[in-house]
Amino acid sequence: MNRSTTLASLLAMPSMPPHGSQGIAEEKLAQAEHLSRSGLPVSAIALAEQVRNEALANGSQQLYALSATRLSWYYFMTARYEEGAVHALEAIEIWQVMGDAVSEASCRCYYAWQLCQMGMPGAEQEAMQALRQAEMAGEPATLCLARNTVAVVLWMYKQFEQALDFSTAAIAVAREVGDPVKLGWWLINEGGIRGDLAAMKAEQGDRRELAAAIDHATRITQEALALALAHQDHWGARICLGNLAEFALHLGDTDRASAHMEHWQQLPGELGDRAITHYHHCNGRVLVAQGRIEEAIVALRAGVEHADQVNDLESGVPACQALAEAYERKGDFRSALHWHRAFHDHYVRYCTHTAQRSARIAATQYETEQLRSQSEAARREARALEVSNLELTQETDRLKKANLEDPLTGLYNRRAWEHAMAETQKAGSPFALAILDVDHFKHINDAFSHLAGDAVLRQIAAILSGLIRKSEFLARFGGEEFVLLMPGTGSAEALVLCERLRSAVEAWHWGEQNAALQVTISIGVASSDGTQEPTAILAAADALLYQAKAKGRNRVEAASAIGP
Ligand code: GH3
Ligand code: MG
Ligand code: MG
Repeated sequence: MNRSTTLASLLAMPSMPPHGSQGIAEEKLAQAEHLSRSGLPVSAIALAEQVRNEALANGSQQLYALSATRLSWYYFMTARYEEGAVHALEAIEIWQVMGDAVSEASCRCYYAWQLCQMGMPGAEQEAMQALRQAEMAGEPATLCLARNTVAVVLWMYKQFEQALDFSTAAIAVAREVGDPVKLGWWLINEGGIRGDLAAMKAEQGDRRELAAAIDHATRITQEALALALAHQDHWGARICLGNLAEFALHLGDTDRASAHMEHWQQLPGELGDRAITHYHHCNGRVLVAQGRIEEAIVALRAGVEHADQVNDLESGVPACQALAEAYERKGDFRSALHWHRAFHDHYVRYCTHTAQRSARIAATQYETEQLRSQSEAARREARALEVSNLELTQETDRLKKANLEDPLTGLYNRRAWEHAMAETQKAGSPFALAILDVDHFKHINDAFSHLAGDAVLRQIAAILSGLIRKSEFLARFGGEEFVLLMPGTGSAEALVLCERLRSAVEAWHWGEQNAALQVTISIGVASSDGTQEPTAILAAADALLYQAKAKGRNRVEAASAIGP
């Protein structure tokens, strides 16, 4: 599946609840995080890529976004900025869709860092947006990251003083957060900014404060180094040692610089391709400063060769330059010229590469935005469809109900009763059936009005409904007649229930409705062993009702099972 199909399907996905494999995946991510903090970012990438693929297969939006966020950082650690930027872009979109502002802000920071490293525009906007989001969310760890990101962007633009403001503010919060590894990272940047500020001032001829400023940078970086070493963050430790060597060179302390590079080399952990070139480069420069030109040339050549081998033009450019300078120092101008030309050639290729990379990332940005607006439209459509589906279901329910309900009393109607009867018959077990008829109802209508008659029918329905069991089925049969189906009820039991219904109607305080009103019902109740035709049972009950009427009304007539 290509990137856009993947992202499109993820953006369109509803947020799934956690499932069984989620726990294992989270475990793997925790392990990846541990690896990354122990100077093993390459292994961390492998593990996080696994989780990302699983998340895609399982349709877990959240897990996908989480692994993409982490991957963005791990790729940063190995200087694979383009991959890091693409992962960050994807994750930002998903976090946005999921409404997780804190995670989105972190991801935006990583994205800004990658843009910075690639020298691409837009880092400042991303960093500022991340800072606004982090400030609004008020989550301290993310706030540290965002402040530090703004500092890094300002540092890239050589706005050292402003960068220091943000960096110091980030560190103040980081000291309270209690994540020593990350505190170490923020300190590394602070040291870096201070070191570069001092170096810039020195270049401008202001060497007075160089020693004090480099000292300050060194102290901060040493604190970072101590934290990194204490927590096996060999990645961070290597950056510290490289920077410390650089600071020592500024002060002309080549022995100290050399000691830092030795320490650097002894550290365990994985060296990404970029780190190997960087080591040779730093080491070469220290050796040049020590006057050990031959050794320096060997180191610098190893750096160039490695950079060329892995097509790392970004490191290749300064490596060629340093090599040319070393040959100049040696007095070998022919070789110096060769490496100056190589430097130029690398630089031209690097510019093309950078332009192409910028174009690719811009295309990814555009594509991601397109996908987001498409998926938003799709989600809106789906929501509208959901609403109209719900309305349709409600309407169908209403119609279904209307079809089975008697509008005057709210009881089931005759159609519903026929259905219930057929079901009972299908079950083949015994049941009882009663027909209940209001006595002299015509008279009630005549004497008290048709409306009063309607009220009587509603009241009877309420009285009867209140006395029957859930398993029994009461319906208005038509006019002033009701039927009661009693599944699994024998004739004696049915007679008792019907007696209770009859007397309840008689006992009702009808006088409240109209002083002269008196209402009674007559009931005919027949029983079936489950084998008879429904019409036969109905006829039997009707005959018994007729008997009840004949015997003076306000009474129940029952008979045991009739013959076939
Ligand atoms: P009996 O005791 O023999 O059952 O006498 P009756 O007057 O109740 O029986 P009859 O069948 O002669 O009269 C039923 C009356 O019920 C006739 C009809 O106008 C009235 N009726 C039927 N449906 C309704 C209704 O929905 N509302 C009202 N108010 N009256 C209705
Ligand atoms: Mg009748
Ligand atoms: Mg009647």
